[in-house]
Amino acid sequence: MLFAWRGLPGLVCGLVCGTLLGGGFGNVSLGFAVGGVLGLAYALALPRPLGGNGAAADRAMTAAAFGLPMWGAINVILLPLLAGQMPQWTAEGMRALFPALVGWLLFGFALGLLATGAVRLIERFLGATPAEPKPKVPDFKTRVVILGGGFAGVTAAINLEKEFRHDPTVAFTIVSETNALLFTPMLAEVAASSLEPTHISAPLRSSFRRTAVVRGQVTGVNLEKRSVELSDREETLPYDHLVLALGAVSSLPPGDGIAEHALEFKTLADAMRIRNHVIDVFDRADAERDEAKRRALLTFVIAGGGFSGAELVGGLNDFARGMLADYPNLIANELRIILVHSRERILPELSVSLADYALERMRARGVTFELNARVSAARPGVVALKRKEGEPTEFEIETETLVWTAGAAPNPLLKELPVERDKRGAVLVDGTLAVKGHAGVWALGDCAVVPDSKTGGPCPSTAQFAIREARTLARNLRASILSEPLEAFHFDALGTLCVVGHHTACAEIKGYKFSGFFAWILWRGIYLSKLPGLERKVRVLGDWTIELFFPRDIVQTIDFQPSPKKSAA
Ligand SMILES: Cc1cc2nc3c(=O)[nH]c(=O)nc-3n(C[C@H](O)[C@H](O)[C@H](O)COP(=O)(O)OP(=O)(O)OC[C@H]3O[C@@H](n4cnc5c(N)ncnc54)[C@H](O)[C@@H]3O)c2cc1C
Repeated sequence: MLFAWRGLPGLVCGLVCGTLLGGGFGNVSLGFAVGGVLGLAYALALPRPLGGNGAAADRAMTAAAFGLPMWGAINVILLPLLAGQMPQWTAEGMRALFPALVGWLLFGFALGLLATGAVRLIERFLGATPAEPKPKVPDFKTRVVILGGGFAGVTAAINLEKEFRHDPTVAFTIVSETNALLFTPMLAEVAASSLEPTHISAPLRSSFRRTAVVRGQVTGVNLEKRSVELSDREETLPYDHLVLALGAVSSLPPGDGIAEHALEFKTLADAMRIRNHVIDVFDRADAERDEAKRRALLTFVIAGGGFSGAELVGGLNDFARGMLADYPNLIANELRIILVHSRERILPELSVSLADYALERMRARGVTFELNARVSAARPGVVALKRKEGEPTEFEIETETLVWTAGAAPNPLLKELPVERDKRGAVLVDGTLAVKGHAGVWALGDCAVVPDSKTGGPCPSTAQFAIREARTLARNLRASILSEPLEAFHFDALGTLCVVGHHTACAEIKGYKFSGFFAWILWRGIYLSKLPGLERKVRVLGDWTIELFFPRDIVQTIDFQPSPKKSAA
């Protein structure tokens, strides 16, 4: 049946369009044959039912885009190999094959247009394509509820879908207070106005096949009744298996005004706030005639010299120095970017030589370092620092900007749960990621203390580990439902990468050290490949390309001024 509705029209359209391929193959019959096969495959792959105005044009463009890899695979590589020659991937060889590329693009476009039109026509006369019989779903479902839409939660859901792809009796729900997965390794680039905020966030609703997405804030979990409470609804969410993937939050010291005056750097909103704040203080400094006040406005203090602090400082330094071109009233030596770190060297996660290299590169670009010092207090316009060296000394910096990257704590919600936790408040799990003493409850990522089965020590709180833990968790959850043996988690870290601004990065991968421009290219290549979804990759690549030719955007998108009172009518 499907062949009559889809296959036959696809085959005919493919044969017709195959005339466009014959020239490039130097063989008309081969053109028809390849065209016919691709036409058949294309029509069978069309969604059921077809829909949407303008969908034919979209499909034609998509099919045309596929022409490029087909040309590369067939004309550039396969046909020369079959003819006993080397692949034609020299510039000269490819130039000679250019007419074949045009043929492929036209073929794809014509096939997309014709096949969609033909299937539409057939559906008009014969009715919609018969649907495949749906598998009978048993009434009983095992309910798996995942709390948290970060790296751990999203990867767990994707892998659970894979594990249970042939088992419709298990239902998955993910609860998250945000509607997208935030790709944190690129967060500093949002704060530094290199990337558009939405480009580093993958929407949850289009990330899954059968996981229901519940947008909401978890306010409590009743482990006895096996239900989850949400802030905006009365009914609770029941579960059979619960996955805790609630991540961590910024941890600001109470008292001394730091929590009140510091900007955080953890979420997408935080990064946008920092970017807009920087633009705001530049605008205020531009209008400020008092030199001391102007200097204070142009002083930025970042607390914490770990990865996120160093990446933020590097990015902000580039952003702020680049902005000076648009503010002719401001001069470069009034601008101060200060990194405060409590130890004697920044980036403790990297080897000494790379951390020193990162510091020297940033210092050469104008960043000031206050090492062995802590931010001890903050009040409007002032940040106080305490130095540890020798006699403790205290001093103050006049500034309007304090960004806190110096600590994170497991999600405070976990403190409400009657489970074992470490002193930071992270949930203790065994090597299989099961929460001790609570069957059917699992935890992973930044909110859990996950022991590595080889070393016995706790795994670091990074996305790299959260993703691997999620894969093991999905296998173990399935094994526990099927009463099979569970596996213990182990993962050898691949390495660490840190970008410190101005086309410079440091990388330590499997013991090999890289720094400078090459490491920066490596950083971009690796993280671009890890960014979820082709569409996001293209968007980020677009932002990076634009940045090569144009200055960073200084349009303010959050207004910090109080809105003027509307006059009474
Ligand atoms: C600036 C920055 C840069 C980083 N760079 C790197 C890097 O380069 N490489 C690397 O490996 N790691 C990096 N990390 C660390 C990495 O982001 C974390 O280790 C990782 O996100 C942990 O994943 P998770 O799912 O456990 O937590 P998260 O990603 O924090 O996810 C927690 C989720 O739970 C949701 N949530 C929290 N509370 C509630 C609630 N009450 N109700 C509903 N939902 C809730 C949150 O909205 C979020 O979606 C970076 C972190 C930061 C902040």
